[in-house]
Amino acid sequence: MPRDSPNLTKAGILWFRRDLRLNDNPALSAALSHGRVYCLYIHAPEEEKPWLPGGATKWWLHQTLLEFNKSLTELGSGLILRSGTSSLEIIREIAIEKNVSKVFWNRLYDPKIVARDKKIKKSLIDEGLSVESFNGSLLTEPWEMKTGAGGPYKVYTPYSKSVLAKIECPKATVKPSSIDSDWPLETDDFEKSLEALNLYPKIDWHLGLEKDWHPGEKGALEALSSFVSNSSRVYSKERDIPSVLGTSKLSPHLHFGEISPWQVWRGIEKSKLDAGEKFAYQRQIIWRDFAHSLIFNFPKTPKHPLREEYKNFPWRKNSRYLRAWQKGETGYPIVDAGMRELWRTGWMHNRVRMVASSLLVKHLLQPWQEGAKWFWDTLVDADLANNTMGWQWVAGSGADAAPYFRVFNPVRQGERFDSKGEYVRRWVPELKDMPDK
Ligand code: FAD
Repeated sequence: MPRDSPNLTKAGILWFRRDLRLNDNPALSAALSHGRVYCLYIHAPEEEKPWLPGGATKWWLHQTLLEFNKSLTELGSGLILRSGTSSLEIIREIAIEKNVSKVFWNRLYDPKIVARDKKIKKSLIDEGLSVESFNGSLLTEPWEMKTGAGGPYKVYTPYSKSVLAKIECPKATVKPSSIDSDWPLETDDFEKSLEALNLYPKIDWHLGLEKDWHPGEKGALEALSSFVSNSSRVYSKERDIPSVLGTSKLSPHLHFGEISPWQVWRGIEKSKLDAGEKFAYQRQIIWRDFAHSLIFNFPKTPKHPLREEYKNFPWRKNSRYLRAWQKGETGYPIVDAGMRELWRTGWMHNRVRMVASSLLVKHLLQPWQEGAKWFWDTLVDADLANNTMGWQWVAGSGADAAPYFRVFNPVRQGERFDSKGEYVRRWVPELKDMPDK
């Protein structure tokens, strides 16, 4: 019997993934207009193999799920938390138990997830359910922007021009005041199920994370508001100075969808920032879209160079070099400061990410994939699209990459962007009494 037949309740499953927010969430809005909603989160990391979540993102996920369940509970619906090896099986089970006619989700663009979601969609439709998916995490989706020849863009500037020519800021969907659901609100059960996912680290390196970050939608909105409240901010310049808080630190919130890029865009538009500064910031949000377009259109790039000519590059694999880099013991102050900031806070300033990754790849001749793996495990904002683009850019093997002969000079970069050594002194205390020079 088709599940849409009139004698079934109008009930839907809203499959939350990296869209853990109540504001500006198109799938949530559509599910609520459909009828009763079962809010579901599935932890099935095996489906994303080899991109199992890293230690830092697992820590974040634990916190954000806890927060999100609290927010949903206030609206009358708990978050159904399930884990397993097959998301399809889990959705199917709940659909049958609750007579569900429709499944909703916001789309993701990592290659493994795209392939999985396609299969799930087809199976559910074959079984008589309807499925509707939405764009909840990008300004424009990867198939929307095409070059004159009809292919995907490989160069940022024309890509961003075409995005700017096309986009119109959509109206935000509003935060619901309640959710009609008959799923029991058992917070203890939720917390037990969450504990059982073993996301929380066993070692205590995360203690620094707790004071630095506030995972969840509230933390995301606060981060945006605190960033835009400083109207004399000169983002275009300050964003390159690692010793000051010149950037928004929204990256992990954007990764988990605790805030949408359009919310950020609107927040910037409405702010009193100078027009040039607004644009400088919005360009970065377009870089994020560009990274997602690249990974979607070139799905092998998380492992393989986009530019074939680098396929057989003669890397000089050396575990001692790699370890020294990971521990922040290379002897290059700005690089060591960045690597230690990463370990202690789960984040590294963008300028320093470029310098540190360049040292690993271009001075130490270690494969960029090794560096990407370390970032994947240690960044709270580890994101397959952004991380892949960042590393391929630095290695010179990606789209619109720095050419192979452009090598960041780690000493000169320190002199230019940390001339008084404030950043280095903060993270490399053994150098704190050295003269600036
Ligand atoms: P802001 O300057 O406040 O920028 C606002 C937002 O724009 C960011 O939150 C981010 O979503 C987006 N953005 C900014 N710069 C970039 C960029 N270069 N590429 C794509 N999006 C960007 N970013 C990640 O989110 N996850 C990663 O795993 C990641 N890995 C990286 C690896 C390397 C080697 C390099 C060079 C960069 C990487 N980046 C990654 C991009 C960038 O460093 C971070 O997005 C940025 O530092 C996040 O800090 P913020 O939120 O304060 O940035």
